[in-house]
Amino acid sequence: MTIHDITVEAEKVDEAEERAERDQLTHLFNRFGFYEGIKEFTCLSEPVFCVTYIDIDHFKSINDTYGHEVGDLMLGKLSNILLSEMRESDIVSRFGGDEFVIATLSDKSTTKAILQRVVDRVRLEAFEISKDKKINITISCGFSSYEPGKRIDMLIQEADSALYDAKRSGRDRVCEFSH
Ligand code: GH3
Ligand code: MG
Repeated sequence: MTIHDITVEAEKVDEAEERAERDQLTHLFNRFGFYEGIKEFTCLSEPVFCVTYIDIDHFKSINDTYGHEVGDLMLGKLSNILLSEMRESDIVSRFGGDEFVIATLSDKSTTKAILQRVVDRVRLEAFEISKDKKINITISCGFSSYEPGKRIDMLIQEADSALYDAKRSGRDRVCEFSH
């Protein structure tokens, strides 16, 4: 009985720790989980990776037109697409709202190709919100590549700045950070 109680308690602690690193809606990593995961990337002997900021285009109007619940459904569906297009070694997280941050263990050109595939897939894939209603969304992505000594906060800031370029230049696209 005592052993059983200890096991249950240990499971509860594991669950709580897991929850702290996970986004409740999508079950992707949250901001905290992302930072925990990326620490391991920077510790590699020759780290080659990129950080990408992703934001759904005109998501507010999806909520306004179809309701918040449909919006939540779309966030879940987008999460599944992101997970299926990334490798297990990559980190896929939701920072909040319609903002996702991804770290890919790949160089710039590979990351760009992966992201373009995701952007194309999201645009083409209809999201079935009910039996007879399908809608399409688009996303914008901005990414930046790691260089030794660059802080993760700076890398995220650069990716966010590239995302701003993607939004400003028409959305539904991938932009790379440039100084
Ligand atoms: P833009 O193309 O400039 O990104 O336009 P946008 O309408 O997507 O603007 P923005 O990214 O600033 O707005 C995000 C919207 O996401 C605002 C809010 O209505 C919605 N949102 C934030 N969190 C949630 C959530 O948890 N669920 C749902 N359904 N909607 C959310
Ligand atoms: Mg948005």
